[in-house]
Amino acid sequence: MRPISYSRATDAATAVAAVSSDPTSEFLAGGTTEIDLLRQNVLHPRRLVDINRLPLTDIGTTRDGGLRIGALARMSEVAASPLVRERFPMIRQALELGASAQLRHMASMGGNLLQRVRCPYYRDAQSSCNKRDPGTGCPALEGFSRGHAVLGVSDHCIATHPSDVAVALAALDARVHTLGPHGERTHAFDDFFLLPGDSPHREHPLEHGELITAIEVPATPVARHSLYLKVRDRASYEFALASVAAALSVVDGTVADLRVALGGVATKPWRARRIEDFLIGAPANRDTFAQAARGELADARPTLMNAFKVELARRTVVRALETLVGDTGRSPA
Ligand SMILES: Cc1cc2nc3c(=O)[nH]c(=O)nc-3n(C[C@H](O)[C@H](O)[C@H](O)COP(=O)(O)OP(=O)(O)OC[C@H]3O[C@@H](n4cnc5c(N)ncnc54)[C@H](O)[C@@H]3O)c2cc1C
Repeated sequence: MRPISYSRATDAATAVAAVSSDPTSEFLAGGTTEIDLLRQNVLHPRRLVDINRLPLTDIGTTRDGGLRIGALARMSEVAASPLVRERFPMIRQALELGASAQLRHMASMGGNLLQRVRCPYYRDAQSSCNKRDPGTGCPALEGFSRGHAVLGVSDHCIATHPSDVAVALAALDARVHTLGPHGERTHAFDDFFLLPGDSPHREHPLEHGELITAIEVPATPVARHSLYLKVRDRASYEFALASVAAALSVVDGTVADLRVALGGVATKPWRARRIEDFLIGAPANRDTFAQAARGELADARPTLMNAFKVELARRTVVRALETLVGDTGRSPA
């Protein structure tokens, strides 16, 4: 048995000081990732600093009409927010299509961004894994890799980023606000998630003890007409094989504005800029959507087991965009 000490922080500065001063300590929010991995002997904190009493639960508008979500707002609270439902349907859908109702009541937004990969080798403390134990190898490259990534992969790691809501947030240029040992910082969403490269153990740019305080989404009018489409092995309680967060505005048959990000197929929430660049100003039809999707997946590096994801991702993009073109305002999810 490993002893673990537990303390409860009541303000953010104390929480940051407690974790940053002790390399063996970690924050505890809803615990739906942290406690699982602690039990599985994958994470080994000696001290947990409970942050659930910090006043970081607000969901509201920013001065410029954007959305600000406190890091400790629960997934279910954010999904139920009238503001989110009306202005950012893709965020609501991504949240409601993730995990289970019970988990969504426990799980916080900050914890969701920092949840760990579902690669079975990472989660098996007996296996080698470059992400868990740098330099030991990646058995997934030659092993079981059906759920793994085809975009953003390296010779050191092919684990898929598991979050659904992070895909919607990537499409919307969200920013992550933090408080760390050296003060406040703001991270652009695309820079927040690191590609595995040759250091897959580094997943984000946070210092040890840097606390996520809020997630901010800029005002994005096109997001009112958006969706999150998730394809998975079963209809609920399952991670994505491929997913698409998309917001689309079409004027006179031409794509006027577009945001697209992919999930389930990449090592980080994948902003599909090639699709956006190709389609803005192009006719909004199946052919152009399919061409754009082919371009985005052109650099895919699948394994034998997950090669199906390349075609699945292309089709999911086309279906998401066609759904938005035909959408009358009802949620397609
Ligand atoms: C069975 C199951 C199914 C799931 N299915 C899905 C799914 O389909 N889609 C999906 O997106 N997710 C899914 N999840 C993941 C779930 O959404 C995450 O476990 C959850 O969001 C993590 O939030 P938490 O508050 O419980 O974080 P915790 O477990 O408390 O923390 C997770 C990590 O983040 C750190 N942390 C937490 N909050 C902060 C903060 N504010 N600042 C800095 N560090 C912080 C912790 O130290 C820890 O390392 C599933 C989880 C389970 C167990």
